[in-house]
Amino acid sequence: MARWLAAELVRARPEAPGARTLTLRIPGWPGHLPGQHVDVRLTAPDGYHAERSYSLAAPAAGDLVQLTVQRVPGGEVSPYLVDTLPLGAFIEIRGPVGGWFVWEPSESPVFLVGGGAGIVPLMAMVRAHRGAGCAAPLRLIYSVREPGGRYYRDELDQPGEGRTRVDLLYTRRAPAGFPRPVGRLTAADLADHTGPPSSGVTCYVCGPTGFVEAAAELLVGAGYAPGVVRTERFGPSGG
Ligand SMILES: Cc1cc2nc3c(=O)[nH]c(=O)nc-3n(C[C@H](O)[C@H](O)[C@H](O)COP(=O)(O)OP(=O)(O)OC[C@H]3O[C@@H](n4cnc5c(N)ncnc54)[C@H](O)[C@@H]3O)c2cc1C
Repeated sequence: MARWLAAELVRARPEAPGARTLTLRIPGWPGHLPGQHVDVRLTAPDGYHAERSYSLAAPAAGDLVQLTVQRVPGGEVSPYLVDTLPLGAFIEIRGPVGGWFVWEPSESPVFLVGGGAGIVPLMAMVRAHRGAGCAAPLRLIYSVREPGGRYYRDELDQPGEGRTRVDLLYTRRAPAGFPRPVGRLTAADLADHTGPPSSGVTCYVCGPTGFVEAAAELLVGAGYAPGVVRTERFGPSGG
């Protein structure tokens, strides 16, 4: 098991209402792959520890890592990371964690389906795909409640750099004139956006547990073999 490393908050920006992107400097960081996550440990003055998992939002960049945290009301850790942790403060990080929900630049197509904060590890994959100039197509379907809740808006709005394509889906409220009716992900959304299941594509699905289960079921129903559908659930973690 990797050891705990001291991580200093060197940059922070609001990502959307209730969400903040943190850039941490971690001397000795071993590097990571898109899709992996870290354990974050906070320690109270009386020695009490709280640990939670957070996905890495960007590919490895020396000793800098990026996390995007969504505030869970009443939560022990996320409100502190979103609202309180000041620049220059230190927390502890352990990782990287995860060997299955990872993507490395390759010549095979990739299909990403994210709901809410589940966009975070998928964004690391999009950034790595763009950064490597991959020739293989990448499709992202990003399901979000309403326009103001979108993360990484500027980057994802950039028109199809390389072979990445981003399709948005709003579940509660869409911008005026948005062509798709509001509502949850359906089989029709997948049919619109993917190549045939036989095309060597790997699917990555991330978000709240209910979203992930529904999306994975739709993908398998559309003909993708369960073995090519990789999932990450953002349910409660740590203790
Ligand atoms: C592999 C992995 C990666 C993750 N990556 C991210 C990430 O990149 N960004 C991010 O914001 N979160 C991520 N999470 C979720 C994160 O680990 C915490 O669960 C979340 O921040 C809540 O922690 P908390 O201490 O604030 O709330 P807690 O004190 O743990 O919980 C407070 C209350 O909220 C409920 N609750 C806990 N977590 C959630 C949740 N995720 N959704 C809804 N209700 C919840 C609990 O059941 C409890 O009732 C990830 C989880 C996993 C397992």
